[in-house]
Amino acid sequence: MRLCRFNDNRLGVAESGSVLDVTAALDALPACRYPLPGWDLLIEHLDDVRARIEAIRPTASSLPLDRVTLRSPVANPGKIVAAPVNYQKHLDEVRADSQIHAHNPAHTITIQQAGVFLKANSSLVGAGDGVTLRKRDRRTDHEVELAFVIGRKASHVSSADALGYVAGYAIGLDISIRGSEDRSLRKSADSYTVLGPWLVTTADVPDPGNLDLEIAVNGQQRQKSNTKYLILGVPQLVELASSFYTLYPGDIILTGTPEGVSPIEPGDSITATIEHIGTMQVQVHG
Ligand code: MN
Repeated sequence: MRLCRFNDNRLGVAESGSVLDVTAALDALPACRYPLPGWDLLIEHLDDVRARIEAIRPTASSLPLDRVTLRSPVANPGKIVAAPVNYQKHLDEVRADSQIHAHNPAHTITIQQAGVFLKANSSLVGAGDGVTLRKRDRRTDHEVELAFVIGRKASHVSSADALGYVAGYAIGLDISIRGSEDRSLRKSADSYTVLGPWLVTTADVPDPGNLDLEIAVNGQQRQKSNTKYLILGVPQLVELASSFYTLYPGDIILTGTPEGVSPIEPGDSITATIEHIGTMQVQVHG
């Protein structure tokens, strides 16, 4: 199932060229009072919501996909975890290019040495929201990444069990200001985490370890690879992250970007595609 959030917090199921409005399925969620949970309620109760979707689907109205504004399919993640330099050829290009590593030795070590980092939740947007550049005097790059969403509470989970804790997959853009600062700062500007175009539940992604991914800017291909080249795959990233902190339903993990990162400018149009997930168009604003 391709689950999306669109327009003014409508819930949808994306099908070929259209979106079924299944917002009424949100009635399956429990009512909340302050303090709200620190994780995403929709993902926590995804099984109940999906059962409700199946029940209302025959009478749901349909909209053309190109007429809706896609938001992040996860509205309230507890955290956004990201993997740095998780493809060898990207690590090679980081080491070779001072504009990328910015003379900070912390940017040229391996993922086994660096571990994962956190991006601010306030950086999260959907494909239809677009990216609005900050620090216009600095180089800012696209990074296309397989993203996955945690489905249930995970602490000290082994890689062998890890895929059972995943709710689904999406395309992630880890937009990055280049420079000497810590990754968590340079990659956390508002709109610098794009998740979309929808969440594809696990049954529709046969093997997260073998997915073609690519990104084009204004129709020109910039990055093209396959997740089989990930140094730490999805299971290993769950094991690593959950050994340091508990992962909760709705937590987003960005798996890292392959080689070919390059600058984006206001007015650019980004097209990102991952096999079995789909394609998303993202506009870059000044
Ligand atoms: Mn990245």
